[in-house]
Amino acid sequence: MVIQAQEIPLDEYERKFKHTHPGMAHLAGTGPAGKTCRECEHFLSDGHYAKSGKHGGALKPGQCCMYTSLMRAKGPNVPHYALACRHFGPVVGAPQEPSAR
Ligand code: SF4
Repeated sequence: MVIQAQEIPLDEYERKFKHTHPGMAHLAGTGPAGKTCRECEHFLSDGHYAKSGKHGGALKPGQCCMYTSLMRAKGPNVPHYALACRHFGPVVGAPQEPSAR
């Protein structure tokens, strides 16, 4: 089996790289359009901030388990709103954003 590198135009690569957060398994925006890490089966939610705090009940950043699996080490927590990467897998019962709670 031959695995070929995926060619991405430089400007598109730079745009995706700019939106990629440390701890993500791959470039942001290489997954399904409109999806975020919050809706991914590999996103390990760390719960919500307090509603009365400065973050107003927002969902906390969480670990990307795919990153941990690929790198064999935990990475920094990823914001829930990061654009999904190519390893995205849909999950039922994704943690809700504060407005939907
Ligand atoms: S989309 Fe999923 S696999 Fe990709 S960085 Fe986000 S949590 Fe990790």
